[in-house]
Amino acid sequence: MGFALEEKRKLLETLYEFIEATYRNFPLACVPGCKLCCTERIWATSLEAYYLLDVLSEEEYNFLETWAKEGYPRPVLTTNQLALCYLQGGEPPLEPAYEGLKPCPFLTPEALCKFYERRPLMCRVMASVKICKDFAELPPFLFQVSTLAFQIVENIDIGGVYGSFFDLLKFLKRYQEGLVKEVPEELLSNVELEEFPILPEERELKRWLGELYRAPVKGTSYTFRELWQKLRKDFEKYQKLNFLRDLL
Ligand code: SF4
Repeated sequence: MGFALEEKRKLLETLYEFIEATYRNFPLACVPGCKLCCTERIWATSLEAYYLLDVLSEEEYNFLETWAKEGYPRPVLTTNQLALCYLQGGEPPLEPAYEGLKPCPFLTPEALCKFYERRPLMCRVMASVKICKDFAELPPFLFQVSTLAFQIVENIDIGGVYGSFFDLLKFLKRYQEGLVKEVPEELLSNVELEEFPILPEERELKRWLGELYRAPVKGTSYTFRELWQKLRKDFEKYQKLNFLRDLL
């Protein structure tokens, strides 16, 4: 694993722990066996897909390849592209209304996640304070921190790509095996968002971000913000999509 990838991974794990600690402060109704939000509509960054690829067996990967033949939804913009579009007063393209989404291929027959410890952020932030039949009910503060967390993950995965979790897994695996050399067009380039859209009166959210920035990153002498800034500085020396070099 390349050095930058190792640093990114440490930041990702710190963010995951931090967001989960935040969620634990709310009385969520989610319990093992809930599966309503485990669908094929899962977006992620290349960093998150790589985090899971590490523990995906050949057999599980082959199952994913077979499952994926039927097709699945794909995002039209990355999280930060969407935020930039709003910040610039634009109207982002509408995401199609998906009906009859298939279950995620990583759900077990007992409705548990096969890769719970390695699941991407999108799976970690979907929650509800009431048992959801059709819709989840997320407290507004958790909605705000999860939106920020998506933007932060994209920032951390500087030079990486974004898309359907399953496209990312397939691409990274094929790339590692030397079967593809280029990033496929269904994957979008990550975009950096330096300023987060936090209103002055959103003090609790600012405090949350400040605490995340000051959080120590395990296995390093850096805080979250220091390591992220270091990553950005080091990245200036590289070409775009340098993350591919790290994967080999
Ligand atoms: S990866 Fe796991 S948590 Fe995420 S949708 Fe699939 S089964 Fe659910």
